[in-house]
Amino acid sequence: MADWFQKISIKYRLMAAFTVLFILTTGLAAVVIYSTVRDSLEDNILLQLETSTEGIRDTVQVAARVSIRNRLRAIAEKNVEILQGFNEAVQTGEMSEVEARAEARRILLSQTIGETGYIYAMSGKGIVEMHPALGMEGRDLSEHWLGKVQTGQRQGYIEYEWANPGEREERPKALYMMYFEPWDWIVSVSSYRSEFPALVDINDFRSVVDSHIIGKSGYVFIVDAQGDMIIHPWLQGNVTNTKGAKGSNLFQSVLEQGDGQITYWWVDPGYMTPREKLMVFRSVPEMDWFVCSASYLDEVYSPLERLRNLLLLTGAVVVLIILPLGYYLGSDIARPLKALAGSMSQAERGDLSVRADVKCQGEVGELAMRFNQYMSQLEGFNNDLKAEIDERVKAEQQLKLFAMVFHNALEGISITDTNGNMVEVNPSFTSITGYTPEEVLGKNPRVLKSEHHDDDFYRDMWLNLQKEGRWHGEIWNRRKNGETYPEILSISSVRDEDGEICNYVAVFHDISDMKLKDKQLEHQAYHDALTGLPNRTLAQDRLSVAIAHAQREDFKVAVLFLDIDNFKKINDSMGHAVGDILIQQVGERLKNDFRDADTVARLGGDEFLIVVEHVEDEREVIELADRLMAVFAEPFVLVNEEVEVTPSIGVTLYPDDGEDADILIKNADMAMYQSKAKGKNVYFLFTQEMNDRISRRLKLESDMRQAIKDRQFTVYFQPKIHLKTGTVMGMEALVRWAKPDGTIVSPADFIPLAEETGLIVPLGEFVLETSCQAMQLLDGVGCSDITVSVNLSPLQFEQEDLVDTVIANLERNGLPSKKLELEITESTLMTDIETSVEKLNLLSARGISIAIDDFGTGHSSLYYIKNFPINVLKIDQSFVRDMTDDMSDAQIVETIVLMAHNLGVKVVAEGVETRAQLELLEAYGCEMVQGYYYSKPLPLEDVIVYLQSKMAICHEYVD
Ligand code: C2E
Ligand code: CA
Ligand code: CA
Repeated sequence: MADWFQKISIKYRLMAAFTVLFILTTGLAAVVIYSTVRDSLEDNILLQLETSTEGIRDTVQVAARVSIRNRLRAIAEKNVEILQGFNEAVQTGEMSEVEARAEARRILLSQTIGETGYIYAMSGKGIVEMHPALGMEGRDLSEHWLGKVQTGQRQGYIEYEWANPGEREERPKALYMMYFEPWDWIVSVSSYRSEFPALVDINDFRSVVDSHIIGKSGYVFIVDAQGDMIIHPWLQGNVTNTKGAKGSNLFQSVLEQGDGQITYWWVDPGYMTPREKLMVFRSVPEMDWFVCSASYLDEVYSPLERLRNLLLLTGAVVVLIILPLGYYLGSDIARPLKALAGSMSQAERGDLSVRADVKCQGEVGELAMRFNQYMSQLEGFNNDLKAEIDERVKAEQQLKLFAMVFHNALEGISITDTNGNMVEVNPSFTSITGYTPEEVLGKNPRVLKSEHHDDDFYRDMWLNLQKEGRWHGEIWNRRKNGETYPEILSISSVRDEDGEICNYVAVFHDISDMKLKDKQLEHQAYHDALTGLPNRTLAQDRLSVAIAHAQREDFKVAVLFLDIDNFKKINDSMGHAVGDILIQQVGERLKNDFRDADTVARLGGDEFLIVVEHVEDEREVIELADRLMAVFAEPFVLVNEEVEVTPSIGVTLYPDDGEDADILIKNADMAMYQSKAKGKNVYFLFTQEMNDRISRRLKLESDMRQAIKDRQFTVYFQPKIHLKTGTVMGMEALVRWAKPDGTIVSPADFIPLAEETGLIVPLGEFVLETSCQAMQLLDGVGCSDITVSVNLSPLQFEQEDLVDTVIANLERNGLPSKKLELEITESTLMTDIETSVEKLNLLSARGISIAIDDFGTGHSSLYYIKNFPINVLKIDQSFVRDMTDDMSDAQIVETIVLMAHNLGVKVVAEGVETRAQLELLEAYGCEMVQGYYYSKPLPLEDVIVYLQSKMAICHEYVD
């Protein structure tokens, strides 16, 4: 127990001690209070019961006496009345005095009072005149105390002891006497006390008993000596055998004690559990009765229960207060100890800087102070030790570091002594020079010497080393395998404590790789990585050199510009990796086919350039071109697949076709384009005619720029007709160039150039603007339901600000967006599908209609059309033109119409010129047409006239 208690924290021990102490104290107080109160309650009830019992007893005694007296008196009065009657009869002479006295005597004696009581008469002189007992009549009682009392008082109530002749013992008696003067009789009605009860009228005091209630349900009752219940709130009959809960005969106890008290357990009728009762009883000897008062003790003790609860509550409250109080006091005492223990364990974990709090005094304070002193000392020792260890570790680490550097350095390191012999070399020394330490230690570094430097070089090195203490420079050495190599070398002298040179440390870096890389870089700068062929820069360089030669030595230089036909297709279909293989193979073949003296270069992409010197004349040039074509005669094998590849070639000659490298290459490029235009797989010599055309083109371009400035461009409109009703649905804006001399230039002649030069962008904007303005005008003349379709060229569509430009244009001219349609060709959309979708979605979201122009000439991909927000397909006029003669074209048109309708897209047939075409289109379900059959593209004034005439017809038609 003690051990166990020791293990518990002081805090809890104190708390427990407090609690136990308080509980004991308050418990003791509670017991004392409780027992005192209980005793006093007990005394109190006993007293109350005694008082009640004795009070009732006295009442009963008095009441009984009064009752008996009254009874006896009534009888006496009655009998005196009878005597009166007889006396009157004597006076009236009805009967003699003797007769009357004899008759009266007979009546009086015939009466019994109770069981054995009787009436007797005494003369005024104390002589018994009449008496029922033998030998009593004629007796002189004048000297007897009773006789004296009777003759003296003659009337009234007397209690006394009496024995008639023949009776052994005197018995208590009571009498009431009345004096009948005429006859000098004292008539006495006497009764035995033992028979009193029979004479008493219980009702005279029942109410007194019944109404007496003690406490809550205590009561009083009267029982006689035979056990018969005289008065009881509810019990009747004999109770001789009534037992208490413990089986003792209650009545017996009462009988034996006469006066006294008992407690017993009693089960009330109708109840299950017995209750403890206290009964106090007193005898009423003259009646042979017992007056009893009983009370339930639990009722008496009920205040006690409240007291107990109060005490328990107080106890609980005390405990509740004491527990935390004990805990607080305990904690308060234990806290500094615990803190100290915490500091110690912190110190144990290695924190020597920890100090205890010395605020508290007494033993704990002292303990803390000693602890702190101890810790300070310990910390001091520890710091000294640490510093020492640190120093050693640092020194060791430095040594290790140096050794690591020496061992792992990429640079070769050798250390020589003052005699110039090597005493230490590192692994890199071995890997660079090829010499192992065993082979060189003790030897002079001269073993590494190459023939690259003369003696002066080495002398200078030594002089510098001696003077400055170091040398740094690039030097060529020889490896063990005889190979020479360049290195960057640093030599430093090392001096001892006295300042004398004791060692030389040589650190060198092999820079042969670096030199190689420099060479490679130089190569890369002038060569194409994929084929290893000279690049454009080198080609230009070589060409310039060749031109210089040719100038001096008077020969011609041929420049052949080669471009692989449809290379993009191969790249797209077979992948870039395969494209690269093709480029490599072409480069390989070209290199093999030409002399080393000729330059075969790759300019980038699929373009190659061949420069051939010493060309005599044009014939030789043609031979060269044929040879070049022949290179492509054999198919190429790309990933196990034979692919036919053709070149387009352009050729220029120095000095005929240009004076410098740039012009020669540019003209050859142009000639190459010419051959592409002529259907590929051909070569073209740059000619004057070609030159002329180029100049014409240049002129057209500058003319066009001027034309834009001079507003020579105008827009024509071609109506778009609803086939069934013949109404004009809209019109297509078509640009025209009206030259100052009156000629109208077709867009076919300038749109491609405008596209190439970028002029199409401002031109396109002009068309859009003009179209919007035209629509406003049409609105004014009553043609408000008509839409306008504007063509968008690829370059225009590619413009990043296209959507903004279009919308700005609409807003500027106040044209609702649903009145505008944009015509775009499939190929325009396909160049960058993602951006196209984005742009179309933006336009479409604005309510602008989108038409696919020239449908059928491109991919005609259903998939894309499905995924673009397309509203209209315009069937290319080539199909419409041939459809009446060519069944397959007709079928294509029919299919397009069906497909479009399936996708919820409208169809416009372009270039409708004949009735036959119109009928066929109607049969196919095509809803709109456009073409010369209805109208050519017209200037705005003419188109207004056309529209108005149409409307008139329409109105007629509607009317
Ligand atoms: P497109 O967009 O296919 O325009 C239809 C062309 O067919 C127009 O030629 C028109 O005059 C012509 N055409 C109309 N009906 C008939 C017919 O029944 N028979 C024949 N044979 N031809 C008919 P145009 O005006 O010479 O325009 C040629 C092309 O120039 C246009 O082809 C369009 O691609 C382009 N173009 C015209 N104006 C513009 C423009 O403002 N911007 C852009 N980017 N391109 C334009
Ligand atoms: Ca068009
Ligand atoms: Ca078209």
